[in-house]
Amino acid sequence: MKRLELAGKKFGKWTVVEIIPKIGSQKLFRWKCICECGKEGAVLSDNLTRGISTSCGCWGREKTLKSVTLHGLSKHPLHSVWRGILARCYNSNNPSYSHYGGRGVKVCPEWLEFINFYNWANENGWKKGLQIDKDIKARKAGVPALVYSPEMCSIVTPKTNSRTRKNSRLITCRGMTMTLAEFAELVGEKSDIIHYRMRHGWTEEEAIFTPFKRRKNA
Ligand SMILES: [Zn+2]
Repeated sequence: MKRLELAGKKFGKWTVVEIIPKIGSQKLFRWKCICECGKEGAVLSDNLTRGISTSCGCWGREKTLKSVTLHGLSKHPLHSVWRGILARCYNSNNPSYSHYGGRGVKVCPEWLEFINFYNWANENGWKKGLQIDKDIKARKAGVPALVYSPEMCSIVTPKTNSRTRKNSRLITCRGMTMTLAEFAELVGEKSDIIHYRMRHGWTEEEAIFTPFKRRKNA
């Protein structure tokens, strides 16, 4: 993505000071800005150039602008993604509730406000067709995947998401209970191979512990 040079420019009450180095896989830039009232802020390029953020919040007009923008956002595809997450976690009539809210999955307080979820998703490269995953980082950290939050979520393709779901299924074999991915790591095989075998009628024991014959490279 081409970077706009915004340093030194003024947007409403904001004066842009400098770019803030990106963290991790963030796709969008934030700028360090100083408001006319003296407060500092970190504002997304887009929010500056599109006039969505015009001050630290001290400007009364900002409130009106924000509500206008938010109203427009309720038709954004991310809004239905967000509503879906909330429904799975908090609406016991939702068909998926038993796998989410029913198991104690929650949404972090920050994301109960749509604009925060929206900004996070955009910063992290969300596009139509991509999905929000809450399991990959949790598995890496070895903690239960029980929260939708910026720290625990990643943006993935639907393919990765179904693979993650598959791999996070718990299997008990030879007295151990682990995910398929962990068994794969234990025996040094790809989890795809183990999963393929199970889909073709192998028992879990056979699928995991039968060595995979690799063709030797000449
Ligand atoms: Zn201000």
